[in-house]
Amino acid sequence: MEFEMKIDYYSGDPGEFIKVIEEKCTGCGQCAKFCTRDVWEADGKIYRPINLKDCVECGACWNICTADAIIFGDPKGGTGVRFTHG
Ligand code: SF4
Ligand code: SF4
Repeated sequence: MEFEMKIDYYSGDPGEFIKVIEEKCTGCGQCAKFCTRDVWEADGKIYRPINLKDCVECGACWNICTADAIIFGDPKGGTGVRFTHG
C-alpha cells in the first residue's frame, strides 16, 4: 500500500500561541536548533518565535527548553497540520 503524506497550512493569522518568558530564557538557542520550520530567531540575548505561521505544532521547542521559558498555547484555527493517505 502506498501512502502520500501531505501538510496543509491554515492561511490565517495563528496568533502568538508560542510565547517566551523573557526572564527565564537563557538564550541557549536550543529551540531554534531543534525547530525544523525556521520559526525562531535570536533577539539580543533571548530567542523569539517570529515565524509562527510556519509552525507545525511539533512541540520540539517546548520540550527541549530546559529553562521552562516557553508557553505553548492553542493557535487560532490551528496551524493546519494534516496527514492524508490514499
Ligand atoms: S530553548 Fe528556551 S531558554 Fe533556550 S533560547 Fe529557547 S526559549 Fe530560551
Ligand atoms: S512547535 Fe515545532 S515547528 Fe513549531 S516552533 Fe516549536 S519546534 Fe518549531
